[in-house]
Amino acid sequence: MSQPAQIIDGKVYAERLRGQVGEEVARLKATHGLTPGLAVVLVGEDPASQIYVRSKGEHSKAAGMHSVTHRLAESATQDELMALVEALNADPAIHGILVQLPLPRHLDEKAVLAILDPEKDVDGLTMVNAGRLASGLPGLYPCTPVGSMILLRETVGDLTGKRAVVVGRSMLVGRPIAQLLLQADCTVTIAHSRTQDLPAVCREADILVAAVGRPRMIRGDWIKPGAAVIDVGINRVPFDDPVKAAEGRTKVVGDVHFKEALQVAGWITPAPGGVGLMTVAVLLQNTVIAAKRAAGLEI
Ligand code: NDP
Repeated sequence: MSQPAQIIDGKVYAERLRGQVGEEVARLKATHGLTPGLAVVLVGEDPASQIYVRSKGEHSKAAGMHSVTHRLAESATQDELMALVEALNADPAIHGILVQLPLPRHLDEKAVLAILDPEKDVDGLTMVNAGRLASGLPGLYPCTPVGSMILLRETVGDLTGKRAVVVGRSMLVGRPIAQLLLQADCTVTIAHSRTQDLPAVCREADILVAAVGRPRMIRGDWIKPGAAVIDVGINRVPFDDPVKAAEGRTKVVGDVHFKEALQVAGWITPAPGGVGLMTVAVLLQNTVIAAKRAAGLEI
């Protein structure tokens, strides 16, 4: 029987990155009088978004940053949200702005991203930053994809020439990860819901990234032995235990069938406990990058 995969513990790498960011914030304050500032905007009461926003606020404060959270009511109008983003664009103490998505349905996300200052777009979601990424230019890149790349570099090492398959083509995850893998000189395939014979495509991958949003879709026999598997998926499912399930209790699983994959892969991120933990750490890193650029300092 083959060796089980090495589990990539996101906590270790996220803690390390947050520590590095904290040190850099302290240095910027001491030597340049510069305090990186992050503003997080939350509209409405979505429970998952509330948790993410709280975590972003806590971690940015812990890193020594100036941190503000703006909470707008579920009923907030497009004009109110746009006015807030404009005010944050103009605020010199704020270097990074994150509008927590998804927005309530009556609000237009694209219109908000269209006015967001790309130099403060620490989520990397504006067209300008997507274009910079696609062109291989420096910019602010999306946090979860950057976090995934850090984990890959820390475990696999040099990615040059590796066959990478990314399942999912969203602007938030799939596309930017594919671009970053390309920048790392991988040979990249992007798969999606119309891909034919997805298991065969996945089996070609030295690096397999799952960003689909379908619980445990990627099975063990879709994975090339020894491959590095990055599971971005966050899916809520009922507990396997019928008693807990009957109580309506749920747990989080990834897009990869973890138990099966563990027997085949070389490295694998657990979900939860893998990529998700990197997201906030990279957000802090992006805020520091934005603050240094705004101050004309070298990155
Ligand atoms: P989207 O719903 O925007 O995109 C899902 C992608 O998966 C689409 O490109 C879709 O293809 C593809 N897809 C759907 N079904 C299949 C299928 N049966 N076979 C192949 N491809 C399929 O999701 P996101 O990219 O925003 O998120 C993906 C997952 O990552 C979710 O579970 C989300 O919760 C999680 N996530 C985790 C984060 C973290 O911090 N860890 C951050 C952000 C997201 P098509 O384009 O053809 O429809």
